[in-house]
This record gives sequence, structure tokens and C-alpha cells, in this order.
Amino acid sequence: MLSTNQAADGVRAGRVVACFREKFGSEPELWARAPGRVDLMGSHTDYNLGFVLTLPISRDTWIAARRRDDGVVRMHSMNLDADDEFRLDRIDPVAESRWCNYVRGVAAILQNEGLALTGCDAVIHSTVPVESGLSSSAALECALATVFEALGGWSVTAERKALLCQKAENEFVGMKCGILDQYSSCLGRAGCALLLDCRDLSTRAVHIADGIRVVICNTMSQRRLTGGEYLQRRSQCEQGAALLGVSALRELTPEALAARRHELPELVAKRCEFIVAESARAEALAAALEAGDRVAVAGLCAESFAGARDLYEICSPAMSDMMDAMLAAPGVIGARQAGAGFGGCMVALVDAASTDAFRAAVLDTYYAATQVRAEVYPVEAAEGAEVFQ
Ligand code: ADP
Ligand code: MG
Repeated sequence: MLSTNQAADGVRAGRVVACFREKFGSEPELWARAPGRVDLMGSHTDYNLGFVLTLPISRDTWIAARRRDDGVVRMHSMNLDADDEFRLDRIDPVAESRWCNYVRGVAAILQNEGLALTGCDAVIHSTVPVESGLSSSAALECALATVFEALGGWSVTAERKALLCQKAENEFVGMKCGILDQYSSCLGRAGCALLLDCRDLSTRAVHIADGIRVVICNTMSQRRLTGGEYLQRRSQCEQGAALLGVSALRELTPEALAARRHELPELVAKRCEFIVAESARAEALAAALEAGDRVAVAGLCAESFAGARDLYEICSPAMSDMMDAMLAAPGVIGARQAGAGFGGCMVALVDAASTDAFRAAVLDTYYAATQVRAEVYPVEAAEGAEVFQ
């Protein structure tokens, strides 16, 4: 018998095939997928070369494709109900349609690396909520790179694929993101979180103790001003590192920063204090989750949220309401922000047996406070980008 997931995957695949037939009048011959991710600890630490504890999640982007021999790429996104078409020998950015640049950017960057690309027809379908902080953009990029890899008959390491996809987002889309999203999407291993060291890009698999479940809670509020605020935080961190004479905030321990805090303007000091502590918390949370130390998990998550709210200032009123709802729900162990902040998704660690009760309570409490229907996604740790049958 099919498991619930296999049954749901079958239905999903059927919808994608039907869409492919309607759009292109043929059957797909190749399927690739790549997961979204949630950061369990380590907000904004990646571009400061610190630690992040990240979980590649069981919500992913699928691309069903069929090769073409004329160097043309035709794409349809089921999520956006939008199409794109371009030639591989001339890849230009599109000003009016942002999503096309994620696709074109991956193609352009792979090709610039000397990797041979083949044209294709493709349908994109994602269960990663878009623009909600779970990295639908990296899931799209990494799934697409995997399609081109399989069609082209070459192979790159997961690490290199992640770096190339990051380059596509940095250079072609113009979003100066760190490495977290693409690394999570490419290097995921079913069943474990990853402790990523963004300085040397090494990862350690972290097995979350039995009985603890990761549950994502979507505030359903627009992430406002994310681009501008994100770049501002980045430059404040760079300013702090420069004033303290280090190459990145990663080079500072919490003690070393505390001793020299007075050398920094107050706002910059607050930003630096958060990052340095948050990176240390990522390592600490990995240990606490492996050991199943629920008291430590609760404390680390609470410190992280307080820092995000008071020091890094990336919280919104909707996030505070969701934090209250999560902390009041049965089975909660710890809860905090996720992604870049400013709305979008948050994350809770929950007693696995209480997942359903937790979910129901969060939905009720959040609705009572905001009149907004939240979405709650219990997730598993998923495998990274791959071709699948
Ligand atoms: P996040 O990565 O947190 O979801 P971003 O703003 O970084 O948010 O990336 C979201 C963008 O990625 C979307 O606005 C869209 O352009 C593109 N994108 C992601 N998933 C898809 C999809 N399934 N189909 C088309 N475009 C997508
Ligand atoms: Mg993104």
C-alpha cells in the first residue's frame, strides 16, 4: 500500500504530467527536485561567515522536463501560472518578470562555467511557499541546475552546484544572498539537520533526538522591505567588522566583542552582538537537539527571538503575535523567527506526540489575535537536490 506521502506525491505528479501535456503536447522524460529549508538557529549569520543550524525540508520544488535539440528553453511555473522562453545562445535578464531571472540566471551561470546545456521544455511545481522565508528561490535554482546537469550528461559536486546557484542569484537576479539557502537545498540528507560553518563551508549532520518535531508556522504576512533592510543589516555588520579590524564577525567570540563593544556606534554594536551570539547559539542548539535537552532548546530559542527583536530588529507585529501563539500551544519546546525575518515563516520545536494539538492551538490563537489564517507545516528533514523517478 502507498504511504500517505507516496499517495500525495502520486497525485502531485499526475497534476504536473497533465500540465506538461497541456503546455507542450508531450510527456516529461526527466524529473528533478530540490528542497526548501528552515533555519533552526542562525539568523543572518551566513554572510557573517558564522554557523547556521539548517534543516532542508520535506517541502520541495519539482521540475519535470523533456530535452529539445534546438537550444530553446521553455518553462512553465504552475505556482505562478506563468511562462518563459529563451535561447541558450542569448540569455538576457527580463526586467518586468522577476521569476524568469532565477531560471535564466542558473542557465547563464552554468554556461559561463563551460558546462554544456541542452534546451528543454519544463514544468515547475513547488510546495515551498513563495516569498515566505523557506527559500523557494534556492529550491527553484537547485532543481533547475539538476535538470541541466542530467540533460547535459555532466556532473558537479553538491557544493559546487550550491555555489553556482548562489552566484546566479547574486549576479543575475541581483539578490546579494549568503550561501545558506543553496547549500541547504543541495547538501540535504534525509533525516538530519545540518550544522553549516559558513567560513569553510563544512557541514556536520545533526540527528534531532527522537520525540522532537520541527513545525513551521507561517504568519502569512508580507515580508516588507526585505531587500533594503537585508542590505542595511549586511552593511552594518561589515562596518562593525571593519571598525574592530576583523575580516568578518565570525572572528569574534562573544567575550571578545563584549570587551570592545564601546568602540562601536550603538546601533552597529547591537547588530554585532546579535550575530556573534546567534552563531554561538547555532552550535549550542545542535548539541541540545542531539541530546534531546529540551530546557536548553527552550532557552536558546527564546534568546534568539529576543535578540532578533531587540538587537537585530527584524521582527514585525505579526511575528510577535505568532510567537505568543506558538509559546501558548501544547507541546511547544522552543520557538523563534526563521528566514530573514520581517514576517513570513517562524519555526517551533514541538513534542512530536503533540503536533496535531500544537497545530490546532496555533491556528486558533493566531486567528483570534490577528484575524489572519496562518498555515502550519510539520516537516521532516529531506534529501538535497536530486533526479528522481
Ligand atoms: P523565498 O526564497 O524566501 O521564498 P525570495 O524572494 O528569495 O523568497 O524568492 C522568491 C522568488 O523566487 C519568487 O518571487 C519567484 O520569482 C521565484 N520562485 C520561487 N519559486 C518559484 C516557482 N515555483 N515558480 C516560479 N518562480 C518561483
Ligand atoms: Mg530566497
